[in-house]
Amino acid sequence: RRRIFSGIKPSGHLTLGNYLGAVRRWVQEDQYNADALFCVVDLHALTVEHDPARVRRLTRQAATLLLAAGLDPERCTLFVQSHVDEHARLSYLMECTATDGEMRRMIQYKEKAARERSSGTSVRLSLLTYPALMAADILAYGTHEVPVGDDQTQHVELARDLAQRFNQRYGPVFTVPRATNPRVSARVMDLQDPTSKMGKSHAETAGIVYLLDEPEAVRKKIMRAVTDSGTEVRYDRTAQPGVANLLDVLASCTDGKPEVLAGEFTSYGALKKATAEAVLELLRPVRARHAELCADPSYVEGVLRTGAERARGLARPRVDEAYAAIGLLPPA
Ligand code: ATP
Ligand code: MG
Repeated sequence: RRRIFSGIKPSGHLTLGNYLGAVRRWVQEDQYNADALFCVVDLHALTVEHDPARVRRLTRQAATLLLAAGLDPERCTLFVQSHVDEHARLSYLMECTATDGEMRRMIQYKEKAARERSSGTSVRLSLLTYPALMAADILAYGTHEVPVGDDQTQHVELARDLAQRFNQRYGPVFTVPRATNPRVSARVMDLQDPTSKMGKSHAETAGIVYLLDEPEAVRKKIMRAVTDSGTEVRYDRTAQPGVANLLDVLASCTDGKPEVLAGEFTSYGALKKATAEAVLELLRPVRARHAELCADPSYVEGVLRTGAERARGLARPRVDEAYAAIGLLPPA
């Protein structure tokens, strides 16, 4: 059976971008059509300045929200990355397979390193080596497909290269994975800065819709979204990025086409109102289920315990095989 792996980092509260770009497809398609593993990748949250208590809290919250969004532990495997040692074990072998130049070319590294530096913080080495750990996350499970928003495509391509290189040098241990992007909303943009993507770890929150925002806050953020000069509603990502983003979000929420929707609105205000209502409609059941699950933390813990056990069982033999193949003496 086709195997799918995808992850989400507890680096902030989950956003509409995470939901439309990744989580919704995990819930609606992947868990039904494949042997799917979903992971709260907490080790990745340590690559920039972090607060330990916050990471712990956000890890639990992310897992709870994924269940609230509709992941069904009977159909898929949900777990926390640091609960399965194989990720860190394999990451080291990936660092020994990748080159320094490959890592430095990653767009996310360049962007995030620049952000850290400009805020006066030193850049952690793990921010550079992050894609090695991400390759390990994927390759440990013999993953065929990695459903991600298009900001992660470059990292998945690196994981492909590393799998091929390892296999060529040391023997056929890894399945070569590929990234798959959602049909629409592969990249939801920040409502205040529609040329940069909505990201949960960004400091400026006015343009970010969080899944757990109060409905009034969601409405306000969308009504205040930056649009473009002009009044005509057209779908043009380059000339009118703000309007195009709203059309993309609306299309994604209502299963419509942005080009077609553009013709249905004669003012930006009407487009914003429709978008806000569509987003609220989409989030309402998720918020409600989240509140229920928060009242039952032992359920969530149980899911994560079972998930980690299954994940360990899947990853262990392949990582052992990689250790042996690369030249490490297996323990007697
Ligand atoms: P951070 O700012 O810490 O990088 P993030 O919001 O980018 O957080 P990630 O945990 O890096 O979230 O990514 C989780 C998943 O959500 C990935 O599949 C990623 O491609 C997707 N994703 C993140 N942001 C967006 C977005 N704005 N639009 C569409 N998909 C997104
Ligand atoms: Mg990201």
